[in-house]
Formats: sequence, C-alpha cells, structure tokens
Amino acid sequence: MAEDERFLKTHKVSGELSNRARHSMLGGVPMPWMTRWPGSHPVFVKSASGARFTDVDDNEYVDFCLGDTGAMTGHALPAVTDAIVQQARRGLTTMLPTEDSLWVAEELASRFGLPKWQFTLSATDANRFVLRIARQVSKRQKIVVHDWCYHGTVDETLVIIDERGRTISRKGSIGPQVDPALTTVAVPFNDLGALEKNLSGGDVACVLIEPALTNIGIVLPKDGYHAKVRALTKKFGTLLALDETHTISAGPGGCTKAWSLEPDFVIVGKTIGGGVPVGAFGMSDEIADRLSAVIDGHEVDVSGIGGTLSGSALAMAAMRATLTTSLLAEQFEYTIPLASRWVTGVANVCASHNLPWHVQQLGCRAEYWFCPPPTNGADAAAAVNPELEDFLHLFALNRGVLLTPFHNMALMSSFHTNDDVDLHTDVFSDAISAIVS
Ligand code: PMP
Repeated sequence: MAEDERFLKTHKVSGELSNRARHSMLGGVPMPWMTRWPGSHPVFVKSASGARFTDVDDNEYVDFCLGDTGAMTGHALPAVTDAIVQQARRGLTTMLPTEDSLWVAEELASRFGLPKWQFTLSATDANRFVLRIARQVSKRQKIVVHDWCYHGTVDETLVIIDERGRTISRKGSIGPQVDPALTTVAVPFNDLGALEKNLSGGDVACVLIEPALTNIGIVLPKDGYHAKVRALTKKFGTLLALDETHTISAGPGGCTKAWSLEPDFVIVGKTIGGGVPVGAFGMSDEIADRLSAVIDGHEVDVSGIGGTLSGSALAMAAMRATLTTSLLAEQFEYTIPLASRWVTGVANVCASHNLPWHVQQLGCRAEYWFCPPPTNGADAAAAVNPELEDFLHLFALNRGVLLTPFHNMALMSSFHTNDDVDLHTDVFSDAISAIVS
C-alpha cells in the first residue's frame, strides 16, 4: 500500500499520460502486456542511454530489463545510432539486398556454426518461418516444444501440458487458429523419456526449444540432455531448432557455441539489432539443399516466408553495427562476472533470511525464483507468486531499479557497474527485510 502511494506520488506525469492513453489505446498501452509492469499505471519513458533511463517525471533508473534483451547491448549504442542515421540518409528499404546483409550472414554463420541465413522482422517471425521450412522439407505436420516454453507469438507454441498430460492452449492465448493439440506436443524440459515417446511415431517435423528455459525463470539442462535430444531427433528423422533469442546471454554464439550444440536451425532476434526490430534464422546446408526446389520456383513470393520490410537496409545496418561493436567475447568477459556478482548478492540475502529460493545464471542473465532449482517448467511455474513478485518489482522501481516484468530477471550490459549491481542487492535486501519484519 505504502509502495503504491509512493509510486503514484513520484510518477504524476506518467499518471496523466496514462489517463489520456486510455481513450486512444486498448488498455491505455501500445501492447496489452505493457500493463504488466509494477505500479498502478505504466511508467512513460523520456530517454534511455547505456544502462539507464529517465521517465517523464525525471526519475532515473538503473535498467536491468534492457527491453527484455532488445537492448542487451545497452541503450542508444553510439555505433548503432550512427549506423541508423547514415542508413536513413541512404534510404531505409528497397526490397533489394545491401552489402551489409552479406557481412551479417557471414558473421552469424561463424558465431553459430550454421552456414545459411535468412532475416526477419522479429524472433517470432523467425520461429514461424523455421517451422514452415521444417514441415516443408520433412513432409510431417507435428511439432514438439517444451512445456512452459515461450517462442514469441507463434500460435502453435503457446501451449502447456494440463493435469491429464494433454497439450492445451496456454491460459491467456487469444483466439488460437486451431486447437493446438492438432499441431503441437509439449514435453517437460529435461524429460528424455517423454521426448522419445513423442518422436517415435515418426510424425514430428521439428523440435523447437530453447537450450535453457528462460521464460519461466532460468531452468538449465541436466548433463547430457542436449546430446540425447540431438541423438533422438536424428534417430527419428526430426529436425532440431534452437531458439537462442534469450540464451545468446551465454556468449557471442549463444549456448550453441558455448555448449557445442549441433542443431539444424538456430533462431536469434531482438538483441542483435541493438534495439532495431530484427530477427534471423540459420540452417544447415542440407536443409538449404532440400529447400532449393521451392526457393528457385516462380511462386517463392507467396511462400508464407517473408515480409516486405524483412532484411531491410535499416535492419542490416543496425545488425552490422551491433555485431561489430557489441555481443563480443570481450563484453561477455565483463558482463558475465557482473551477473555472478548479482547472483552472489541476492543469494547472500536469501541465505541470511533462510529463504529456500534459488538464483540462477546463464551468462550475463540472472534470475531469482521462489523455490529450490527446478528441473522443468511446471516445477518452476508452481513457485510463481504474483503478489510477492509485484511487491518486489514495485519496491525496486520506487528506488530506481528496473527488473524484467513477468519474472525476476536481470540482464547485464557493458554499461552496468559493480555499484549498479550492489544497488540492486541493497534494495533487494531492504525489500526482504520489509516483508519479514
Ligand atoms: N523466442 C524467445 C525465447 C523469446 O523469449 C521471445 C520473446 N521474449 C521470442 C522468441 C520472440 O521475440 P519477439 O517478441 O521479439 O518476436
């Protein structure tokens, strides 16, 4: 209650804009999920730079959300700003390739070890197109995803396993085209038996998974999980797609490179555009060869894979500038220890209060969760505590610290400092003291 009052008092201009916004935008926000931030109305942003942003009431924040990886490089990266301005002067989109596209494709090929790349407007699109390609080349219909996965707004991945073991639409999914049980089977993360059972029918085109779950807290794979996933998909003729949109936090080539994984497809997005909407997917030569008949055909413009603005000159310039100057080994050498410091800080506070919570790290991404480390998404989901989460997020926001909404996640950029991390630890400590006292 006191936190709500403090929020209202210090966010008056945001409050006025929110009231106005209710007349012209559904829910008073550009996208419905923007209502899920702490506080009784959204905070309107004035400007963001590096690891910080300022709102319209002139409150300043250390930003550990970084646009949920869209700005993992830090906000307003000078190289990206320059590239955008220069490209704007030269024309932003012509439907023809620019030389930048070559550079970016070659760079992604060397980072992720897959030779052929395509570009999209978002990671969601990249996932959607990978699934179409997988169905095309395998001539199979079904896909497998992890229970509690999130791969963007790809309808057929918005699923969950119900208490009777059936794959059903996730609560909250708006107007699915078809019953997702027709297209998709969800299997628990780290459950090789369930995976084998569902692949053995020989009707699964593609397994689309994150190397570690990142959207229900961070859930890490058990030793040997990925080797076995690869072996099973090969055995049953199913293609394997790794969605590295978030797990690129593990290093310059994501978990694929860091853990020597060998997928048929890799999907990346948001992060690699330095804030400009982009997505990309890579594939093996074998897939590319199997696709060639369709790609060479006259009807390729209605393939269902595309978008007029995909691969635009703007997107390519932004990706080139981002990948040239950021998300490099030297930055991860700085940001991963920062994430470790964040983990240690939070873990010490939990230990001093005997809280059975855990703090997990995946490269420069870290997250606390209100349970011991889970092995799958359902166990992680069982520990979700909206009231507690709302309090911790609002308490932090009121003290100039922004965490990622929907979970308790922090990302580190090259612009964060030890002091920023320690500020979070202090605020977290005060929040826990306020709860237990
Ligand atoms: N894949 C994963 C793993 C994601 O977490 C998300 C979004 N958070 C997406 C894909 C989709 O990204 P976008 O919303 O930018 O399309």
